[in-house]
Amino acid sequence: MHEATAEPIQDLETMTAPEILRWALDRYHPRIAFASSFGLEDVVVIDMLVRIRPDARIFTLDTGRLHEETYEVMERIRERYGCAIETYFPDRHAVERLEQEKGFFSFRQSVANRKECCAIRKVEPLRRALAGLEAWITGLRRDQAITRGATHKLESDEAFGLLKLNPLADWSLDRVWDYVRGYDVPYNTLHDRNFASIGCSPCTRGIEPGEDIRAGRWWWELADEKECGLHSLHRTDG
Ligand code: SF4
Repeated sequence: MHEATAEPIQDLETMTAPEILRWALDRYHPRIAFASSFGLEDVVVIDMLVRIRPDARIFTLDTGRLHEETYEVMERIRERYGCAIETYFPDRHAVERLEQEKGFFSFRQSVANRKECCAIRKVEPLRRALAGLEAWITGLRRDQAITRGATHKLESDEAFGLLKLNPLADWSLDRVWDYVRGYDVPYNTLHDRNFASIGCSPCTRGIEPGEDIRAGRWWWELADEKECGLHSLHRTDG
C-alpha cells in the first residue's frame, strides 16, 4: 500500500486523461484499480482503460440496491470490451442485521441512518476492494458537486492510504457526452431519463432542467451532506 503524503508525487494537472491512465497503469498495475459505479464518466474511463490495457482492473460495489439498468450496462460493458468486472458485495450479516433492526428504508429517517447504510453497503466493501492496492482511479469531476470542487487529477487519499487518480477532474459534462457518443460507448439508460449520477435505486432520481447535478441524490438532505463516504472520509462522512 502506498504511504500517503501531503503533496502529490507528480503534477498531472496538465496531462490528458489517457496520458494519466497510461502513466498510472505503467507504474502501478496490477496494484491499481478503477472504482466504477457505471455512470457516464465511468464508462468513458473504462473505454480509455481497456484501450491502454485490456486487463486493467475494474471493480464495482454491488450494494444490493442498484437499478436494473445499472446491471444491464455492466453486462453490456462486459460484452463490448470482454473485460472482467470485480464485484464487491456487502457483508450479508451486516445487511441482515440492519434490515431486521431498522427496516428496508432506514436511510430516509435521518442522515445518521443514511450514512450507516452507506457504510455497510459501500464503505466496508470499498475497503475490501482497495486492500492491497497502491492507487485507485475514479470518474470524479469538479463540477459534479459542491463537495467535489477541489478535486485534483492526482491526490493523496489519506483516508485509505492510497494515491487517487481522477483523470476527468477538469472535464465538463458536455465533453463526457461527446466522448460517449463519439466512441459509441455503452452507457446507463437512466441518463436518458435525466439521471445525472448513478447510485442506489431508492436514493437516486432524475433531475429537472437547471437543478444541481447532485439534486438527484439523497434529495431529502442538505447539499453539503451528500457524500456516501467513498470520496469524503476525511470529511467524517463515512
Ligand atoms: S445510497 Fe442509499 S441504499 Fe445505497 S448504501 Fe447509501 S443509503 Fe443505502
